[in-house]
This record gives sequence, structure tokens and C-alpha cells, in this order.
Amino acid sequence: MQTLTTRSKVASNKKMTLVEKLYLPAIIGGMRITLNHFFKKKVTISYPEKTREFAPVFRGQHVLKRDENGAERCTACGLCAVACPAEAITMTAAERKPGEEALYREEKYASVYEINMLRCIFCGLCEEACPKEAIFLTDRMVDTDYVRKNFIYGKDKLVDPIDKPIDVSKRETTETKEFKTHPEFAHNKLYTKSLK
Ligand code: SF4
Ligand code: SF4
Repeated sequence: MQTLTTRSKVASNKKMTLVEKLYLPAIIGGMRITLNHFFKKKVTISYPEKTREFAPVFRGQHVLKRDENGAERCTACGLCAVACPAEAITMTAAERKPGEEALYREEKYASVYEINMLRCIFCGLCEEACPKEAIFLTDRMVDTDYVRKNFIYGKDKLVDPIDKPIDVSKRETTETKEFKTHPEFAHNKLYTKSLK
């Protein structure tokens, strides 16, 4: 019968020799591999004591930025949620009340904004879709946890700390702003539409 794959291995019923029965060749072979690795440079690192250097394009935990006056930039337009392929973003929009101008830049803001970090694949499409330069991915790692609900990050974890703003200058560049004006890219169409 013709085999379905060239990788198939014919089973053998050949009797084992005495040495093979003692498993000596297999044990010696295994020890040789262990010894070889023993003197090689380790590929693992002791995280979190040590961390690897991240690539400049690394995309980690998100931040919801504030404007230069400290007001939240997000206007709860939902474009990031629409662009998100993992459906990880949910939000509730609210209307800004008189006197809240210092808190929220636009008349509409996100009273609830949540990202499910277990769903998120850190693709960065939310960042690309945002017309308000409000959401950015940063070089921070999402913390580990044992409880699933702790991976739902709300505004308490996402909004930029007022006293210690997260630097996103590497991502908020003139080139990225210019890129968003190209309507030939799917999510940019939403962005250019939102400008009209
Ligand atoms: S990085 Fe990608 S998967 Fe994660 S929230 Fe943004 S769009 Fe969704
Ligand atoms: S796209 Fe930007 S402004 Fe719109 S809801 Fe998302 S983060 Fe907020």
C-alpha cells in the first residue's frame, strides 16, 4: 500500500540486545546531550530580576493619554473597539457635565473603558484606529495574576497617571499621524470619516 507521508516510520519487532535491554546506550546518549547543554550559554533569563531589552516596536500594556492640560483625550467614539480583532475593548460613553472641562477634553468621554488583557493580542490596531491620539501601547508588560477577572483592565489601570505621564513619544510620531490620513487602509477609513 502506498504511504500517505514520506515521514512514516516502519515499526520493527527486532529483539533488543542485552546492552539495549540495560538502556545503557539511551542513558549515555541522554547524558551526552545534557553535558553538551551544560557548557552552552543559557538562553533563559531569571525574569523578573532580569529583563530582556525590548525592540523599539514592542507593544505592551495600553495607556489612555491625557492632553497637555491633564484632561482625558478619549471621547468614547468606539473606533478602537471596532478595529479590535479580539473584541477585547468595551466602553460606556457619558456626557461631560459643566465644570468637568478639566477632566475630559471632549463633550463625550468614556465613563467606563475596559480592555480584557487575556483576549488582547497586542496587535496595536486600537492605537492606529484612534482619531484622538488617546490610546497607545507602551513598553510595559501586563502583570501576571492567578485570577482571570484581574486581567480586565479598567480606567484605574489604563488612564495615564497625572503625576507620572507615560512617555509615548516613540509611537506618537508625525509619521503615524500622517499614516492615519490614508483612507485606503480599512480602519483609516473610519478615522477619516470621523474627521468629517
Ligand atoms: S492591541 Fe489589538 S487586540 Fe489588543 S485591544 Fe488593541 S486592537 Fe484589541
Ligand atoms: S478610538 Fe480613541 S477616542 Fe475613540 S474610544 Fe478608542 S481610545 Fe477613545
